[in-house]
Amino acid sequence: MADNGYNPCVACLHTRCCTHYTVNITGYDLWRIAQGFCLSPEEFLVFFTVKEPRPSTFKLDHSGQTCDIALDKARTRAKEAPCVFWLSLPGGYGRCGIYPLRPLTCQIYPAFFRRGSVHIKPDALCPSNAWNLAAMDLSLWRGKLLRAQMEFDLYHLVVARWNAYVDSTPPQARFPVQGYCAYLMNVYTRLERVQQAVPEELWPGILRRWGEYADLQTNPLTKEQNGEASALPGWREFLRGIQEVVSSFLPPQSP
Ligand code: SF4
Ligand code: SF4
Repeated sequence: MADNGYNPCVACLHTRCCTHYTVNITGYDLWRIAQGFCLSPEEFLVFFTVKEPRPSTFKLDHSGQTCDIALDKARTRAKEAPCVFWLSLPGGYGRCGIYPLRPLTCQIYPAFFRRGSVHIKPDALCPSNAWNLAAMDLSLWRGKLLRAQMEFDLYHLVVARWNAYVDSTPPQARFPVQGYCAYLMNVYTRLERVQQAVPEELWPGILRRWGEYADLQTNPLTKEQNGEASALPGWREFLRGIQEVVSSFLPPQSP
């Protein structure tokens, strides 16, 4: 769903985007929604195991199995059930109940970023011709998409830290999912301060650089920075600030 001047979502009666998908979320989404609405993660999330590990999936034990988190679907996992935050209105209408704090995935749907440009997903559930690239504020969308990519990469670093910790514990160790959520709440409280400390005028350059890494399918937070990249004002300091916060949590246990 969009929120710029041109917004097909306002007049959309279709809104299958809020019922069809399982909306996976990042730690940043979890933190913003839990903080913003004074909710505990259990009130709006579901946790489930996934077959294939991904950079966003976390371990709770040594079984090799990994888990992911997503928005609950009004207490059911049925495919076409509405999101837990969907507010039904008379006449078949409805709207998002957390619109300003909705997850990044919802904020950028149905757009994606590739090779410096904004694109619309060819398989989007939106009514046909709902989205017109020529009418969109592409600079605003580019910023939103790059910001989302940065958050996805940041979350992968946070998840990797947790997983390394779980791997370092004795083989019989098991962790409750509440422990993982508490970790996310704590780490994102500190990461928010790092982001807030970046001067506003440095963000366009940082996000542009992030897009260059995204096109190479590389997470700049896990790649050693070369001299060219670090010459960008604020770039090296921002990456280092994030890495220092994340590595201050959960030092791996010694054998
Ligand atoms: S289906 Fe598409 S146009 Fe309709 S609300 Fe969702 S994102 Fe917007
Ligand atoms: S959070 Fe809001 S926009 Fe996202 S799926 Fe739920 S109701 Fe829709």
